[in-house]
Amino acid sequence: MFSICEEALSRGLGGIAITDHVDIDSGEASCRETLDGLKTDITRARDAFGGRLEISMGMELGEAHHNVPLARDLVSDDCLDFVIGSLHHVRKSEDYFYIDYDRADMDALWRNYYEELVEMAEVGCFDVVGHINYQVRYMTESARARTDLPRYYGTLENILKTVIRSGKGIEINTSSLWRGLDFTLPSSEVIEIYRRAGGKIITTGSDAHDAARVGEAIDDAVKRIASAGFDKFAFFKKRTPYFHDVRQ
Ligand SMILES: [Zn+2]
Repeated sequence: MFSICEEALSRGLGGIAITDHVDIDSGEASCRETLDGLKTDITRARDAFGGRLEISMGMELGEAHHNVPLARDLVSDDCLDFVIGSLHHVRKSEDYFYIDYDRADMDALWRNYYEELVEMAEVGCFDVVGHINYQVRYMTESARARTDLPRYYGTLENILKTVIRSGKGIEINTSSLWRGLDFTLPSSEVIEIYRRAGGKIITTGSDAHDAARVGEAIDDAVKRIASAGFDKFAFFKKRTPYFHDVRQ
């Protein structure tokens, strides 16, 4: 935690959100253990970096719709500043990280992803939806070439409208950029669909998993957000979005 905060300061960031993975399917005990550990670490980091760096206590809640009562209970924790809602795998399937995309039934893969993303958006135990189109991060080049993403823009628009109606937002995740791809998650086309649908709340995240990557490619993401027509991005404190100007 300390090296993450040091790196954030050295990159000139004014604030950082720590969003440890809390995967609903890992069970209640594991979820609570992660949150308890995070509270301890955040308290120590705030003591050490207070006044120099805003530290938002978050979690990345995976697959909330698989256990809605537990998800509701976890997100009601007063200590939380920020909750990302993510979909890493659908029911009875492994994380998209493990899929063999050159053999996968791509139509089924996309259909299942969006069916569950609709469910997750309706459950709404989050402030922003994390890394929409997560699976593209792991697809082989040939699988990406076979992907006809525009076919799903209508579905995505409906999902984004559900998110907007419930007062939530989306995260623009830069992990695809620092993995060498030339788009964010979601990509600029989807960010524009979100704006046209009336979306206002947009956050950026490096999904660093490693102190050395903290804030990686955030400048690039901010430029893309601005190009998609947004002049502000959000930073959450106590589950409330505070808006900052996009500076290009
Ligand atoms: Zn994730």
